[in-house]
Amino acid sequence: MRCLIIHNPASGPRSDEIYTFAHTLAQGGDEIVMRFIGDGMEPEDATVDATDFDRVVVSGGDGTVSSTLDCLRDCGVPTLIFPSGTANLFFSNIGNAPEAAALAKACREGRTAKVDMGELYWKDENGEIRRHGFIIIAGSGFDATIMQKAAPSKGDIGEIAYVLSALSTPEPQVAHFTIEHDGVVDELDGISCMVANTAVIQNDINLFPGCRMDDALLDIAVVEPARLVDLLPTALAGVIDPAGKGLGRPNFKMFQAREAKISCTPSLGMQFDGEVIPNNAGVFGARVLPKCLDIIIDEFSNLA
Ligand SMILES: [Mg+2]
Repeated sequence: MRCLIIHNPASGPRSDEIYTFAHTLAQGGDEIVMRFIGDGMEPEDATVDATDFDRVVVSGGDGTVSSTLDCLRDCGVPTLIFPSGTANLFFSNIGNAPEAAALAKACREGRTAKVDMGELYWKDENGEIRRHGFIIIAGSGFDATIMQKAAPSKGDIGEIAYVLSALSTPEPQVAHFTIEHDGVVDELDGISCMVANTAVIQNDINLFPGCRMDDALLDIAVVEPARLVDLLPTALAGVIDPAGKGLGRPNFKMFQAREAKISCTPSLGMQFDGEVIPNNAGVFGARVLPKCLDIIIDEFSNLA
């Protein structure tokens, strides 16, 4: 078996576990190639000959995984996500057993599920159209603030930082959103518009009930104007009813679509998978890239 491991050595506290993984995976006759993301080795460089391998392993946090999977779209090679970052929400959404030995076994077996990505496009400060794939959530407003505020404390407490920082925003700014989703136009006020490929956050809370990364649809949610104290019922609904099937999400207006164009006045900033995009005009597009990834799963996976 030829296996390509793409690892971000700066990913976080679990960074060294990839060596345990490689050690457990290796058998006589194998070839294991390791490439390290950093200066001179961008995800585009690391993935250039990916189709020459039987497996690709992407090891890092959500940022590394997002950028690397964007380069691996439609390559057809079974791809394992190894959770070595401080935030590994995409890995949590796959739901594989997290131990290095279990992941090595799943990698060897090579059982896969076809999974979607999202694609975000926007105009930069020079008026050029830019694009980037995303695996979790992209959008405008509230969530960009969450991600920015989460950043400094990420190293210490990891994923829980996302929720704590949300609770530290007392008066979020309200904007007017025009949302064109699969040809239908809706106008509404909100503090955030999020477009999700997958939406399970920590403790198995599904932020957008019904959101799946294998249904060839994006989930779009506008969070209605509310102070954080008013959002608490939604937060609480998330805790009491993680899947959201009974209580739903009281402050969220939700759509599902293959593609959407979103205008936000005033601009509330933008992010994808925790990466903040500076200086945008408040207009962005998103579309689903259906079943473009072959993600390795085990019998515990939500995708099994
Ligand atoms: Mg979906």
